[in-house]
Amino acid sequence: MTRSVVIGAGIMGLSIAWELAKRGHRVTVVQRDQVGRQASWAGAGLLVPANEETAIHPLDQLTALSNRLHAEWADQLKSETGIDNGYQVCGGIYLARSQGEQAALSGLKRYWTECQIDYHDLSMAELAAQQPHLLADGMQMAMSVPGEAQIRNPHHLRALKVACQKRGVEFLSDVDDLSFETQASRLTGLRIGNHRIPGDTFCVAAGAWTSQLLHPLGVPLSMIPVRGQMLLYLWPEGMLTTILNEGSRYLVPRRDGHVLVGSSTEEAGFDPTTTSDVLQELGAFAESLFPDLNPQRLESSWAGLRPATYDGFPYLGRLPNWENGFVATGHFKVGLQQSTGTACIMADLIENQSLSIDITPFAPSRVSETAT
Ligand SMILES: Cc1cc2nc3c(=O)[nH]c(=O)nc-3n(C[C@H](O)[C@H](O)[C@H](O)COP(=O)(O)OP(=O)(O)OC[C@H]3O[C@@H](n4cnc5c(N)ncnc54)[C@H](O)[C@@H]3O)c2cc1C
Repeated sequence: MTRSVVIGAGIMGLSIAWELAKRGHRVTVVQRDQVGRQASWAGAGLLVPANEETAIHPLDQLTALSNRLHAEWADQLKSETGIDNGYQVCGGIYLARSQGEQAALSGLKRYWTECQIDYHDLSMAELAAQQPHLLADGMQMAMSVPGEAQIRNPHHLRALKVACQKRGVEFLSDVDDLSFETQASRLTGLRIGNHRIPGDTFCVAAGAWTSQLLHPLGVPLSMIPVRGQMLLYLWPEGMLTTILNEGSRYLVPRRDGHVLVGSSTEEAGFDPTTTSDVLQELGAFAESLFPDLNPQRLESSWAGLRPATYDGFPYLGRLPNWENGFVATGHFKVGLQQSTGTACIMADLIENQSLSIDITPFAPSRVSETAT
């Protein structure tokens, strides 16, 4: 039985661990803090539509594959764990007010047309009829995208952890300081204090911290943490029934009346704290769209660190010069969405099987190539 070690228990680590465990690997997940926190817990769980038949670029193919798998995984996780991960194709509305937002939305419209992704224009009267509590003053464009979906990521993470445990995955949490043991071009184990974890394969999926972990192995990744902040309200039932997107901000209604309002895109190092100016801005955004909103309905706020890469592509692949070392990170704003496809592709790669997507653009070696 292949002994596989996964480092990191965010959405990437847990998804890869579950996929490997389903294929019969004996899996150990090594995690620095609580399982399933950090960016994966902080995110909104938005899944934008994609079309597997028309996707040409590997990144679009990864999104489309992931969307199909999300529908399947939601059912599998429910039947294996009894946990509903909140997957629903709830549809989305895209709004544009400023000229910049209109230009961006027109670009998206062209992209949806090319990819044959279902959308339709909404007149302001149609928008008002669909979302009667929404104040659309100043809106210049509105578009409905029926295929937009969501998962409730904290529930999804919990389901993944339980599903992993049921398949015998071992978790080692609160691991502060780990190092790799090596022999020639192979990784042979993880050293954590006096403890040694042997393995046949090692996959690093430690989000924004991945480059720090890979540095001692001579693998330079060009990554940066990008903070995103979020507000959580509890709204009266029926006040918002679909995801609303305007520019880079959005509102995501959960089934139980909770509404997420996000988000910011900030380079603040590894500082995961919220700031009053951004939270106020997000609150003002929500209240501008829903003037009836009572600010007392705000329940909480938080921030997370997205793993971003210098060129916007994730790092997926075998580690340069390490035949049994792998990396899966750098998914930036779409990691929750692309987690299912990433898990299957990584498991195929770890098992030396042929891949359904060409992952050359995601090669971890591309940093050193561009640096020379
Ligand atoms: C506000 C916000 C909104 C978002 N919204 C969406 C969205 O709507 N849709 C979407 O698809 N994506 C969204 N994202 C992006 C998504 O959350 C991330 O791309 C994804 O969670 C990254 O997952 P990960 O597992 O790579 O990283 P993380 O979730 O950060 O997990 C990495 C794990 O590795 C662990 N680790 C770190 N260092 C070590 C170490 N030395 N040893 C052991 N373990 C270690 C960490 O503790 C952590 O648990 C959002 C992100 C944020 C912050």
